[in-house]
Amino acid sequence: MKKNEIVEVEITDLSYEAMGVGHVNGETVFVNNALPGEVVKAQILKDKKSYAFARISEIVKESPDRVKVPLRQYVQTGLTSLAHLKYDKQLEFKQKQVKELLSKAHLDQIKVAETLPSPLETGYRNKAQVPVRMVKGQLEIGFFRRHSHDLVPLEDFFTNDPEIDRVLLAVRDILREKRIPAYDEEKHQGQVRYLEVRRGTATGDMMVVLVCLDRDFPGLHAVVDEIKEIAGVKSIFLNHNPKRTNVILGEHDYHLWGKRYIDDKIGDLTFEISPQSFFQINSLQTPRLYKLAIDQAGLTKDDLIVDAYSGIGTIGLSAAKYVKEVRGVEVVKAAVKDAKNNARLNQIHNAKYYAGKAEELMPKWAAEGLKTDVIFVDPPRKGLTKEFIDAAVKTGPKKVVYISCNPATLVRDMQLLMEAGYTTDLVSPVDMFPQTPHVECVTVLTKE
Ligand code: SAH
Repeated sequence: MKKNEIVEVEITDLSYEAMGVGHVNGETVFVNNALPGEVVKAQILKDKKSYAFARISEIVKESPDRVKVPLRQYVQTGLTSLAHLKYDKQLEFKQKQVKELLSKAHLDQIKVAETLPSPLETGYRNKAQVPVRMVKGQLEIGFFRRHSHDLVPLEDFFTNDPEIDRVLLAVRDILREKRIPAYDEEKHQGQVRYLEVRRGTATGDMMVVLVCLDRDFPGLHAVVDEIKEIAGVKSIFLNHNPKRTNVILGEHDYHLWGKRYIDDKIGDLTFEISPQSFFQINSLQTPRLYKLAIDQAGLTKDDLIVDAYSGIGTIGLSAAKYVKEVRGVEVVKAAVKDAKNNARLNQIHNAKYYAGKAEELMPKWAAEGLKTDVIFVDPPRKGLTKEFIDAAVKTGPKKVVYISCNPATLVRDMQLLMEAGYTTDLVSPVDMFPQTPHVECVTVLTKE
């Protein structure tokens, strides 16, 4: 197949990145925005010999599961790359993905529950990080076109809390009015690279973080004076990111105005969140995710539990009242500070949080002879390490509660835990990220 050639293809599957999958003369074609059961005319964008990428030029036969995506920009950017699929089918797609991964690992005996739907299907995100660029001479916010760094301007981000979109647009207008230059990636000049806005769903408090090339620049103070007048904004920071990099945030945050934290609630607990701390982005679904994990953990008043990859301590602190002691570990120092602070704030006296890498601290604890009853893990996409698992097992927990944002590494790690004598018969997907292909899961492994 040649670039720009149009081929007719029947879509037979959906890839984990939510691309329609079809075959033409024995070659696999990934078609953006196409659904299983559809026949489409597809324009080839890239041919990699054994597979090709394409986009729809015409739908010949449409799937009954297709819904209209409100803006074509969502399709161009991949901001919400599953938005063209009916919501109940998105949930099935996520369940099926987990089933397939288990099946490939010969673990078909483990059941996969139906995906727990999100209370909100759009407007659920409590945090946005959006790039800022000049487009046709005007400062714009938006999202990058797929596989590129061309900004597609947007005013409605679809999955953000609408209050966050309101603040993003207000800040954009202030930057325009004060003629602040947006960052230019090629020249590595200009100022504002990204805007981050976070909102405490329970409190309505909002934090604005301006991610900038320099720590200070002409007009910054005038901008801050206006941002603080936007309704709901309680905190303003500048994040200094001077490097040539695709990484969004730099290392240092400078407090510019207002509170240093925003508050949110999970269940009856209050949490203070600082700029670089991880906080689950779907506020209404998070307590349901944690409940699923904690209910199955079989906690007792004599238990010592570990909250590994703890962020600001949300899981451990939610479980603290059921157990004797909580020990948390987290690599981001600011998050550990938040976790300790959050324990105090909620008058929880049986939880201790430590800064460090889980794969380093766990072996240290195991060597010191620590005995644990239940270990909660909630690692980033790359999952756990062998060192962590070996050490965790050594501390003798009766259960390992695994919260995962990547089913592929979950299944890999489950296999290691099973070799060490732990078993499970259920994995429960939870939809934390509607309109996107991301899958969150909970499973509880019990010592045989
Ligand atoms: N359990 C928390 C956070 C989960 S996100 C919650 O539900 O909100 C995963 C967390 O793991 C992030 O806070 C990240 O900073 C942290 N992390 C990443 N790598 C780590 C490592 N090697 N050791 C410890 N923590 C790590």
